[in-house]
Amino acid sequence: MINVAIDGPSGAGKSSISREAARRLGYIYVDTGAMYRAAALYVMQHRIDPEDAEAIGRILPMLDIELKNDNGEQKVYLCGENVSRVIRTREVTRCAPIVSANPKVRQCLSDMQQEMAQKNNIIMDGRDIGTVVLPNADVKIFLTASPEVRARRRHKEMLEKGMDATYEEVLTDIRERDYYDENKPISPLKPARDSILLDTSEIDFEQSVQLVVDTIKNKISK
Ligand code: C5P
Repeated sequence: MINVAIDGPSGAGKSSISREAARRLGYIYVDTGAMYRAAALYVMQHRIDPEDAEAIGRILPMLDIELKNDNGEQKVYLCGENVSRVIRTREVTRCAPIVSANPKVRQCLSDMQQEMAQKNNIIMDGRDIGTVVLPNADVKIFLTASPEVRARRRHKEMLEKGMDATYEEVLTDIRERDYYDENKPISPLKPARDSILLDTSEIDFEQSVQLVVDTIKNKISK
């Protein structure tokens, strides 16, 4: 099986670029951020404090997350319910980094992710895929862009989806999330030693997809 790990900060375009690159290569795309968002929503639905590790540990065995491909679109199911839209709200976005700092949550989701990678040719995107989840991935890419460019892109995307937020709010959230993700004690966001660094600040979506596809083809042909 070919395993491609794509890591990087929020808003670097990882998900949309990875999804399209996977489609062109005929690989399965696994969005691990969506899984952490679903886990955060699960905690919220149970009205548990996202920092309460013990309470989270108690409900974790019943956590059921499924990624389904629906006409080329990835849908996220939490305990049988389609939560693809609600996991993108600001509330869930703010809760996800806190819940994802919980070691038991990380262990649980990482087990699910490793199982998917054993069975399929995949592109998996996240924060710790090349460093922790798939340390032996065939290709490791660290995809990034400046915080301002990422905030502009995310803001535009939110407006298009009818969500309400200002550019300044999005930039503040991105900076906060970067800080949190880079400094969390377990699995902090950092490029794997053997990853290929790609910066998409100055290139558009199509060029980014092409760059990722070429990088993967290049690496696996060696
Ligand atoms: O990528 P996305 O923004 O959807 O991820 C949501 C949150 O989940 C991130 O802020 C990050 O804290 C967490 N995450 C993680 N490990 C991953 C993917 C996401 O901790 N592999």
